[in-house]
Amino acid sequence: MPKFAGRAAWSAILGTLPAAQPLQGKVTADFTVIGAGFAGLSAARRLVQLNPGAKVVVLDASRVGEGGTGRNSGFMIDLPHNLASENYAGATEGLDRSLISLNRMAIGFAREAVQDYGIDANYFDPAGKINGAATENSHAQNKSYGAHLQKLGERYEMLDEQAMLGVTGSRYYLSGLYTPGTVMLQPAGYVRGLAQGLSREAVIHEESPVTAFCRQGTSWRVETSGGVVSTDKIILANNGHIESFGISRGRLMHIFLFAGMTEELSRDALRRVGGQPRWGITPSDPMGTTVRRIDTGQGGNRITVRICAEFCPDMESTEYKMRRAAKIMRRKLDERFPQLRDVRLEYIWSGPLCLSRNDVSVTGEIDNGVYAACCQNGLGTTRGTLTGIAAAECASGKSSVITEFFARQAKPPLLPPAPLAKLGATAYLNWKGWRARKE
Ligand SMILES: Cc1cc2nc3c(=O)[nH]c(=O)nc-3n(C[C@H](O)[C@H](O)[C@H](O)COP(=O)(O)OP(=O)(O)OC[C@H]3O[C@@H](n4cnc5c(N)ncnc54)[C@H](O)[C@@H]3O)c2cc1C
Repeated sequence: MPKFAGRAAWSAILGTLPAAQPLQGKVTADFTVIGAGFAGLSAARRLVQLNPGAKVVVLDASRVGEGGTGRNSGFMIDLPHNLASENYAGATEGLDRSLISLNRMAIGFAREAVQDYGIDANYFDPAGKINGAATENSHAQNKSYGAHLQKLGERYEMLDEQAMLGVTGSRYYLSGLYTPGTVMLQPAGYVRGLAQGLSREAVIHEESPVTAFCRQGTSWRVETSGGVVSTDKIILANNGHIESFGISRGRLMHIFLFAGMTEELSRDALRRVGGQPRWGITPSDPMGTTVRRIDTGQGGNRITVRICAEFCPDMESTEYKMRRAAKIMRRKLDERFPQLRDVRLEYIWSGPLCLSRNDVSVTGEIDNGVYAACCQNGLGTTRGTLTGIAAAECASGKSSVITEFFARQAKPPLLPPAPLAKLGATAYLNWKGWRARKE
């Protein structure tokens, strides 16, 4: 079962949710989706689009907006975002071009949902983002990423120290590379809106952890702590926890990221910080720190920070790790905003990330009538949306450029045996983190 540490700030700042409706007793469905994050809710939306009148049931162990999806930083990025590379560029230009086109399809799908369901535009802000550089080294990474974007024919703008100060109010950054295509989500607001819109056409049961599923004649039986669904088809959209059902075991890397959000900035703190009311900075070095400023339309005038990265094969973060992360985040915030030393980090949380060594997802039909939309490799906003669409299309007997893209992907390779994998991954992450410590 997923275990989440720390309160999910994005959901908390939007106020309390109405009571959950956990699954009770026996029900039937044509399609059952396990997981109500980006992948699961996108799958459910695509299912109802393709199968009008079909009964779609979505089950989540947690609350919508409080699982992995509600714990991320909200950068729905259109461009290559390969965390293993030096500057986010992918393995080849051809791959990057097809990823950009697919990512933009995911953003288009989300935009259409925002319009159809009347989701608050503040939760889906097509504002773009900046790769911030704090050292000469990462400024060079920005320049090489810029050259890569130029070859791909993508627009970008280089910002100097003064321009970065104007946007962020921080003197920390030497330069920035602005790209216009990223949508800045209020992640909890977006998925809550998606779930609310979908609830006209699908049934969503939160606080309904799936404990098992098994074949039942020609269909499937899905068990939760309080009920059972008899269903023709299942979509697994529970990201790294697909492994907890025995699927892709030993092939997925479970990383935990840590994030924090300040209390509401007082009028005085806002005056001291300056800059613009909304912006988002990803680090030029993929292993650095993400910083974002939000405003009242998104849940308050606050700054949120995200740091890397612990290898957690047991998919849990400990109290000790949370305390350590809180100290690191405080330091990162103080380095960037010495004028805000008195501002408290009101929320500290962690969340999971599921990666494969070859940057592929676990998507498509994995057994007769069972489909997967898992392992988003760091870009769960767009990749999760895409895997959800792909799984729903496969389950509906439809093919598209999205299903074809995932069908061409290899399987995630096996990881080395557990102690070696842990040692190797931890050493690698520590080294990369150390190198990116100023970013
Ligand atoms: C701090 C942080 C910052 C991040 N920032 C970004 C970012 O800016 N941009 C970006 O693209 N990505 C970001 N990510 C990654 C992103 O959050 C994930 O890739 C994304 O959430 C994956 O979406 P998903 O729907 O596949 O899985 P999840 O969001 O993990 O959703 C899976 C759902 O399945 C449910 N579940 C699991 N097991 C069961 C079960 N047995 N029964 C029922 N339900 C179950 C869980 O409760 C959960 O709600 C970040 C991650 C973290 C932790």
